[in-house]
Amino acid sequence: MAANPGKKDGERLGEYERKRDFETTPEPAAKKRRKGKSAPRFVVQEHSARRLHWDLRLEHEGAAASWAVPNGIPDDPSENRKAVHTEDHPLEYLDFEGEIPAGEYGAGTMRIWDRGTYEVEKWEEGKIVFAFSGERLSGRYALFRAGKSEKDWMIHRIDPPGEERDPFPESVVPMLAKLSKLPAGDDGWAVEVKWDGVRAIAYCRPGRLELQSRNLNDVTAQYPEVRRLSRRLGAREAVLDGELVVFDEGGRPSFERLQQRIHQTSESVVRRRMKSHPVTYVIFDLLYLEGVNLMSEPYARRRELLEGLELAGESWQTPANSTGHAKELLAASAEHGLEGIVLKRLDSRYAPGKRTGSWLKVKNLGRQEFAIGGWLPGEGRRRNRLGAILLGYFEEEGEDRELRYAGKVGTGFSDRDLDELIERLRPLARKSNPFAGRRGPRQANFVDPRLVAEIEFRELTAEGMVRHGSFKGLREDKPAEEVGLERPEPT
Ligand code: MN
Repeated sequence: MAANPGKKDGERLGEYERKRDFETTPEPAAKKRRKGKSAPRFVVQEHSARRLHWDLRLEHEGAAASWAVPNGIPDDPSENRKAVHTEDHPLEYLDFEGEIPAGEYGAGTMRIWDRGTYEVEKWEEGKIVFAFSGERLSGRYALFRAGKSEKDWMIHRIDPPGEERDPFPESVVPMLAKLSKLPAGDDGWAVEVKWDGVRAIAYCRPGRLELQSRNLNDVTAQYPEVRRLSRRLGAREAVLDGELVVFDEGGRPSFERLQQRIHQTSESVVRRRMKSHPVTYVIFDLLYLEGVNLMSEPYARRRELLEGLELAGESWQTPANSTGHAKELLAASAEHGLEGIVLKRLDSRYAPGKRTGSWLKVKNLGRQEFAIGGWLPGEGRRRNRLGAILLGYFEEEGEDRELRYAGKVGTGFSDRDLDELIERLRPLARKSNPFAGRRGPRQANFVDPRLVAEIEFRELTAEGMVRHGSFKGLREDKPAEEVGLERPEPT
């Protein structure tokens, strides 16, 4: 026995028995047993304990040799995964499924993920080579000691998997929607609410989840409540597209509230804000599922597969969409104070990083981001503080990109915004006016256009000036130099 060499059957289960109270746990007690002649059995149990992991148990010499595999059994031969050797379990455990009560060792839910028989090629001290024949698992694997401790093992697939698998996408730039008016006909379009938050792609692999922002930054640590989604997916590998949203009391997405999460990276602050400003990951697309890249599948098919995953939890949801009824939905969204709607062609492919016109956004109020090129001090009560920010956007001018002035905005700031903006604008101060062409107020404090502000407005004039604008917050997910003017395109 690799685990406890030199011990006799029955003695090996001492540790298993010591850790458990069989009056409390439904797990089986150890029994003496005869050796069987049929092929040895294996089980992989998905164990949703303090941390989700997979327990691999191999029937061997009258007991079940056991390993806890934090990221599941790999299918790809290029990957070695950690396998923590644990105490032998009784053979009865090969059939065990159920709830281990709180307070007991391994408390949580245990369910059988796969089982079957296996064939041993080699069983040596610190190295086992074998082949699974299960319902999910097949193929040759090696388990081997790797590390100082007796517990440190790895599991590795030896032969290539039978079926072709598409590689797991590592960093997808989200597909974008074009600002538009309602299309004349809404046949062939899926219509959904426009979620006012920050875009994020979730990379889910067994036991782990990574969230990447639109500019491919890893923002996982900022939104810990979304991590539990990986438990829901279990051993399924998936890449999801969606929006991180904070809802207000009325159930409306609030970009202002989300500000309390976007700019936080300290772990203790994130913990506190998770309670006061919880985020919901609103999932609207599925780009990869269990070895299949879905980006070339039509949206309708991706949506169907996404809905099949039934992802609805405390910190994530898959909101409904409809086919057609765009006009009614837009009116309803205005009535509920929502930003607008998004239309997606049912037959469209996913085009990473592109604004192809297969996705359209139709907004109730004007809304877009601008680069901040300067600021004006306040008047009256706000005399020593910030009064207004000067907005700009970039435009191609020959070989150059020039910053164009788009007006100023002096409302929508909370006290906290006023302090934070000044603090972040001061180090960017410059003497020269950054705007080309129309130059803005001469007495302004100019800055390098680095910060990006989200602005809501009543009107955008033909000259590209914002009228009746209001500050919604700073964005961190887009570099200022990419800010251009968005105009609804007639369709
Ligand atoms: Mn376990």
